[in-house]
Amino acid sequence: MSYPHPNLNLTNPKKGYTHFVVYAEPQIGVAGAAWNATISIEGNTPYVREWLSGLQRCEPNPLHTMLVDNQEIPTLFHPCVDEDTNSPSAVAGVGCICRRTWCDPTFGLPVVGRHHRTRSGDFDRWTYTTYAPLDLRPDDVLACVVIDRGNLFWARTTTDMLVFLPQLGKRGYNAGPFAGDGGAAAFAAYLQQLIDTEGQDTAAHHHRYDDPDPRILAWVRSTAAAESPELTLKDLKAIQRG
Ligand SMILES: [Zn+2]
Repeated sequence: MSYPHPNLNLTNPKKGYTHFVVYAEPQIGVAGAAWNATISIEGNTPYVREWLSGLQRCEPNPLHTMLVDNQEIPTLFHPCVDEDTNSPSAVAGVGCICRRTWCDPTFGLPVVGRHHRTRSGDFDRWTYTTYAPLDLRPDDVLACVVIDRGNLFWARTTTDMLVFLPQLGKRGYNAGPFAGDGGAAAFAAYLQQLIDTEGQDTAAHHHRYDDPDPRILAWVRSTAAAESPELTLKDLKAIQRG
């Protein structure tokens, strides 16, 4: 399955798949993802650790600069205090506010890590930002959808690969009792698409399923949806049946 856009013909099956389009407004110095959702990863769940273990550390490239504010771009090149106590990102030789860059090898998408360690060392945490893909790769087959604590959404393939669920920036997902209306509806619509296509259409679409099945929507807004379930197609169909 390859990502289809109604106004652009970008996909050549012989060359691969489309997963990222840059949006730019040069007059005001803005560049970012045209369609892909930006994902912020702040928790340290087993799924996050699994995903992190597959990333490849790399030098900063133009894709990483889109994940930080313009004035932050130089900090992408500063080492962590653990690597250089004299780094511009080091704080008194022990604390740190560095950035670190990786490539997610599955889709070639950029990942930026933000390190925050206080001088005392009492607080020491990494958070991450990346983009969601627009679809799985052409030969990937979806095995299950994972809702990670109600705010991160993963796809696991039949080859046991864990990736972020295809997601559009304008239709960010939410699940659980505190989910916003738009996010819950977008996620319910995506689940319904999987059910209706027997898991074949995994692309995040712009104009489809704006009116999801009320039973799926009600389940997306339930406590169960926030308890990190792994949902196979069979599970999704059971939810739709009520
Ligand atoms: Zn650091």
